[in-house]
Amino acid sequence: MIDAVVVGGGIAGLATAYELSRRDRSFVVLERGARPGGVILSEEIDGFTIDGGPDALLIQKPDGIELCKELGLGDRLVTTKLPRLAYIQRAGRLHPLPAASVLGIPTRFGPFARTRLFSWPGKIRMGAEMFVAPRRDDSDESIGSFMGRRFGREAVTYLAEPLLAGIHAGDVDRLSVQALFPRFVDAERKHGSLLRAFSRRPAGPPSVDGAFKSLPGGLSEMVRALVKALGADHLRTGTNVEAITGRGPFQVRTSAGETIDARAVVLATPAFATSALLRDRDAEIARLAAGVPYASAATVALAFTREAVQHSLSGSGFVVPRVERTGILAGSWLSSKWPNRAPEGHVLVRTFVGGARDPEAFQKSDKELVSLSLAALRPLLGIRGEPRFSRIYRWERANAQHEVGHVARVAAIERALTKHPGLFLTGSGFRGTGIPDCVADARATATSVDAFLGSEFRVQSSGF
Ligand SMILES: Cc1cc2nc3c(=O)[nH]c(=O)nc-3n(C[C@H](O)[C@H](O)[C@H](O)COP(=O)(O)OP(=O)(O)OC[C@H]3O[C@@H](n4cnc5c(N)ncnc54)[C@H](O)[C@@H]3O)c2cc1C
Repeated sequence: MIDAVVVGGGIAGLATAYELSRRDRSFVVLERGARPGGVILSEEIDGFTIDGGPDALLIQKPDGIELCKELGLGDRLVTTKLPRLAYIQRAGRLHPLPAASVLGIPTRFGPFARTRLFSWPGKIRMGAEMFVAPRRDDSDESIGSFMGRRFGREAVTYLAEPLLAGIHAGDVDRLSVQALFPRFVDAERKHGSLLRAFSRRPAGPPSVDGAFKSLPGGLSEMVRALVKALGADHLRTGTNVEAITGRGPFQVRTSAGETIDARAVVLATPAFATSALLRDRDAEIARLAAGVPYASAATVALAFTREAVQHSLSGSGFVVPRVERTGILAGSWLSSKWPNRAPEGHVLVRTFVGGARDPEAFQKSDKELVSLSLAALRPLLGIRGEPRFSRIYRWERANAQHEVGHVARVAAIERALTKHPGLFLTGSGFRGTGIPDCVADARATATSVDAFLGSEFRVQSSGF
């Protein structure tokens, strides 16, 4: 019998397994798909390096970068290219996000006074955040409600909606501020105002590395390094887990009819898949997990010759507020964001389509996704002619939506899980979205598995 079966070979499952292997535990990762990595997928096409899913590791949450270093990829980490500008579309024009901001929230007056992204009444309302009394109520609220209360509607329309909810492909009026931006809630609680809290931070020079890192071959490099570190026989792709029976040891049954016995099981699957696997064991956990919604989104990679695009593309790309109604959520200029993503004389652009904001868009054909992306990009970037090639990546039910009440939901799941010793849950549906949070939670989960296996061994030994 092995120590642990890890179900799901996305970053959460692979990082769990990596930590188990560091602790000399025996394990196997079972992944339904044909390849490991889940939503992490990079491809090389005609000299272009394309990340179809995630492309960036947030520096401020170091667990993703730390893992890369442990895997021997430290020297390969690259930073975003200069200038590090991101844009927001308003009235058909791209406006740079003012410098000196924390996720769009101003930390200095000057850049905000100068930007044309906000109207003067909008700027004055945002500045008045200093005088908005803090909320005394501890209950959760949406990002839209929080930002609207503190900074006014214009900040929701042009900052919170496209930027804060947009990175989760989510709905600003449903996503939880407590789950996704706990530092905002903390700042309000401790300082009474976010402007006051963030402008108090030591001014210091801007980080030389910017906010994100990546790998030259795309983030699949991280997946390949993880698989190598685990050893090929510890990962089985094309292996769908159908049922988990037993109360420890557990029997993990695959669709091929095979049963694997394990002392512990880690479910690193999307919450809806976790729910299905636990339905017969614990109806309450299954119900709570099934209540985590998922959004579907597509990314459309478009390759052009440099002359075909008039825009300077200086920066990493832009986000599109819902009110602009252009059919896309965002556009990344991947070849300006990262080094060496396109061959000399070419550029690589990628759009995001769908998400919780526009679920019907995900149903469109590949051809329609390309043409709506081009229609959105042409007037902004001055694109002439057709792309050299396009590539569509569909991520169905891949973006976990941590909606209002998510923190309480997860706490209830954790309480119920104490009735099932040896069973563990991780992955983006629960304690954190984004690769760094998934890695941190996976490693913490593996540490708990290790402690459980140790305590189980002690109980058994004392029985001899
Ligand atoms: C388009 C897109 C862009 C993103 N961009 C970024 C970014 O730039 N930076 C960032 O930090 N984050 C980003 N994210 C978020 C981040 O990539 C994900 O939150 C994270 O990778 C999720 O990892 P996971 O292992 O929890 O889930 P997944 O990657 O979904 O892996 C779960 C795995 O479980 C498998 N599985 C399901 N059921 C079973 C079963 N019954 N048996 C066996 N296997 C099963 C699935 O096949 C899948 O491979 C992005 C997400 C998307 C979709």
